[in-house]
Amino acid sequence: MRADCHIHTYTSFDSAITPQDIVRRCRLRNISLVCLVDHNICPNYIVFKRKCSKYGIQIIHGIEYKTKEGDIIGLFMNEKPPKKNSRMIEIIEFIHENSGLIVLPHPIKRHNIDYIIKEIISRVDFVEVFNSRQTFMENIASLRLALSYEKNMLCGSDAHWSWEVGNATVDTKGFDLIVDADDFLEHFNIRNVTALSCRTSARLSEWLSQLFAGIRLFSPEHIRNAVLMLMRDVRLIIKEMYLGAFLSYEINISLIGTPTTKEDIFNNYNFMCSDLT
Ligand SMILES: [Zn+2]
Repeated sequence: MRADCHIHTYTSFDSAITPQDIVRRCRLRNISLVCLVDHNICPNYIVFKRKCSKYGIQIIHGIEYKTKEGDIIGLFMNEKPPKKNSRMIEIIEFIHENSGLIVLPHPIKRHNIDYIIKEIISRVDFVEVFNSRQTFMENIASLRLALSYEKNMLCGSDAHWSWEVGNATVDTKGFDLIVDADDFLEHFNIRNVTALSCRTSARLSEWLSQLFAGIRLFSPEHIRNAVLMLMRDVRLIIKEMYLGAFLSYEINISLIGTPTTKEDIFNNYNFMCSDLT
């Protein structure tokens, strides 16, 4: 089964993705499960579920919570955050109390890595090792983080635009109907993962979604973020040109061999980078 575990929909203030977009892109990329995780809200996704189920695409719902220390995802969560400006550790406890699963998204981007290692990493169920809006180096660092702390791994495009859906995927053995958090935890256990893939979303996608949010909400804060992101993207593009590196990347990693022990699985040598351009 192939899954994209981090997608935002038009119900988020900064995304324009429709059910038709999900169906079209999932069929194109052979994806049969997606996690819809809008910012701080969880709509019932009825239209998404109805459209996607016709094509055998499973929808898992969740929320990407904004906290003082960065974003954290709760899968199988419907509950809004208990208060604004919570600390990440409070939201993690809140997700556990509500029997959700915790995914640490884009751990290297907009997170304090010292805080993550000291307080957070032991409590999360999954680390998002590849996120299409992270740079190549940020993704490799996220993968190393998950391997060093022996965490289960997910990949997510963090799509806010249709062209981003399916840009990061995780492949697993077999195909299960996932009805609850226990099923999800079992199916996406590292023992079942066969491949991790990621291609970069066009650099300006993130800037565009901030601009979109700014216009939609009449929010000076988002317009300001859009300006900052545009400046960051331009700086990155200049830096990459200077270093001679490509702006875009594609990473495909397969789990090779048949690991028999936990140590086998987390030994880096079992992962082989099969294509890197
Ligand atoms: Zn996100």
